[in-house]
Amino acid sequence: MRLSKFFLPVLKETPAEASIVSHQLMLRAGMMRQGAAGIYSWLPLGHRVLQKIAQIVREEQNRAGAVEMLMPTIQSADLWRESGRYDAYGAEMLRISDRQEREMLYGPTNEELITEIFRAGVRSYKDLPKMLYHIQWKFRDEIRPRFGVMRGREFLMKDTYSFDLTPEDARKSYYRMFAAYLRTFARMGLRAVPMRADTGPIGGDLSHEFIVLAETGESEVFCHRKLVDMDIPPADTDFDGDLTDIFEGRTSLYAATDEMHDAAEFAQIPAEEQLSARGIEVGHIFYFGNKYSEPMNCKVMGPDGRESLVEMGSYGVGVSRLVGAIIEAHHDESGCNWPVSVAPFHVGLVNLKAGDAETDRVCADIYSKLEQAGIEVLYDDRDARAGEKFATMDLIGLPYQLVVGPRGLKNGVIEVKNRNTGEKQELALDKAVELVSTAILDALKVA
Ligand code: ATP
Ligand code: MG
Repeated sequence: MRLSKFFLPVLKETPAEASIVSHQLMLRAGMMRQGAAGIYSWLPLGHRVLQKIAQIVREEQNRAGAVEMLMPTIQSADLWRESGRYDAYGAEMLRISDRQEREMLYGPTNEELITEIFRAGVRSYKDLPKMLYHIQWKFRDEIRPRFGVMRGREFLMKDTYSFDLTPEDARKSYYRMFAAYLRTFARMGLRAVPMRADTGPIGGDLSHEFIVLAETGESEVFCHRKLVDMDIPPADTDFDGDLTDIFEGRTSLYAATDEMHDAAEFAQIPAEEQLSARGIEVGHIFYFGNKYSEPMNCKVMGPDGRESLVEMGSYGVGVSRLVGAIIEAHHDESGCNWPVSVAPFHVGLVNLKAGDAETDRVCADIYSKLEQAGIEVLYDDRDARAGEKFATMDLIGLPYQLVVGPRGLKNGVIEVKNRNTGEKQELALDKAVELVSTAILDALKVA
């Protein structure tokens, strides 16, 4: 992509309304723009990051055996009356009526709708287990939308729903998602710690929140230090097998959100192993049994010929919140510093003398070589000052910068900068292209 053709409205000043670094950087780097409180447009740069995050989430859901679909944002109030949540949900629900005065709502979550879809389509235990998910916008009329996309009112969520015949099977589905979540967040360069959590309005009896430790996080958490360095299940994990033992064992180490915190239990951990910190909730998983299948009469025929209520769970990931969470974890004083897996582009190519025939030619050559190797390049071909180009590249935080100018070309070299380490080296053109493409393709390999 040529920067002259792209849309990148960067800001020089830090907007006063943004109090945390991810919000500031998303505005400054031209990633998004507020439409109304807690409602944002995703500008091209931010949209690319959002898509990459959604794609990683999707790949790991598919790997764990969940099947993608897409449910609407608008739902009927009657469905929510069946579960009894229409009145219980309160002011966070955006209620609307159509021209026939039918009561509708903008979905804050989808337990009711998926239960209705499942009960219409599945009759027998032979179709179980089943896990279905979608990645769709949600609306919750939060009292205090703040911190940009971290607590929006309209936000993108991945939500999965599991259906099983027995509580034992439902726990297996739960721990499959547990493993998928560890992989999902690790692939984005995040350490997300699973913490025992309150089940809240979703209800149920087994629940974990996945929390990325950060000073600016809204959740207060307490855990055993060991959990921060938990092993990530490898790509060849057998997701059809039973992962319950592995993960139930791990969750025996203390880790709880504020609502679930037990000071006496925490005090038994040796002091040097105690961690009390703040964090960002990026995912939340629940096993809630018959909470929806019972009021909504969602049953399947069991092997004994008797009908029984399905055992359900739901599993959310805050896709749009993750954009902010990743910036909180990966930035410096000059700007964002994206992990390769979610970077909006992999390489920033800087032409120091746009209009100079030789510089233009070399840049065009590098651009096409990198694109052919499958590397995504943002080519700054604008006629602008070098200082401005460097500041923009550092601000948007692409993992590598290639700087091409007449002075280097005289010696047959260009400059390669690693945004993460700050390391710079001068290399011959082909060497530079090879170094950068190898490093990026390596980083994109899924372990
Ligand atoms: P929170 O405790 O932060 O309000 P929640 O418990 O209400 O979140 P869930 O119902 O568990 O949220 O939703 C699943 C995921 O969706 C959360 O883990 C979070 O990452 C994300 N999420 C929830 N509310 C918002 C919001 N207002 N803005 C952005 N992301 C959100
Ligand atoms: Mg939650």
